[in-house]
Amino acid sequence: MRPVVRGDCPKDVKDENVRFASYAQARGELIKRMGEFCSYCEMHLDSSLAVEHVQPKKPDGALTEMEDRALDWNNFLLACTNCNSTKGNTDVILADYFWPDRDNTFHLFRYSEGGVIFPAIHLSEAEKLRAYKTITLTGLDKHPLNNPEASDRRWENRRETWDIAVRSKSRLAKNNCQEMREQILETATGHAYWSIWMTVFEDDPDMRCRFIEAFPGTDKTCFDAARNYAAVARKGIQ
Ligand SMILES: [Zn+2]
Repeated sequence: MRPVVRGDCPKDVKDENVRFASYAQARGELIKRMGEFCSYCEMHLDSSLAVEHVQPKKPDGALTEMEDRALDWNNFLLACTNCNSTKGNTDVILADYFWPDRDNTFHLFRYSEGGVIFPAIHLSEAEKLRAYKTITLTGLDKHPLNNPEASDRRWENRRETWDIAVRSKSRLAKNNCQEMREQILETATGHAYWSIWMTVFEDDPDMRCRFIEAFPGTDKTCFDAARNYAAVARKGIQ
């Protein structure tokens, strides 16, 4: 899961925090800062990408919408239909999960062949539990072995992207030049699933740097340029 920077609430002409009349008004600014990607599954979307409330605006059991959550810039991410509907209105205690705007979620999850997502190996048991809870909350564990809905193609998109990234890497090994690197970057931004590209090109710091730079809003402080852009703990936010 790509660690993203949402940044501070946009300002109005008086340099005060914008007061959104509806959460949909924040969509354009969120996309400008973080790209047209689902914050959870990393799918690339345009028109169907929705403003996502990290803490649901009307959690299960609530009778009315909670305005402080519904219109709070710091409660916004972007989500695809599948992540949005799987997460639904389940109320969440933020500390029970990992979040792409707060944690280095690339450091906390592991992508393996086919784009299957697991908690990272280095996590403690408590952290693994948190990672599993996050995966389940967003349905990132859905794949053919546990019967996803036919409309949920997230696993398949990840698998396809994994294969494309592997093929790109092997082409680069045969023809290692700047042009090929630029072409791979274009393919990566077109197919999205940043975490998969970062994983497949784990041992190529130049490509990793390009992926980090090219996907808008990726938190650069989450990577150590001196160590092949290895993921490091996120500073300041947790
Ligand atoms: Zn998604």
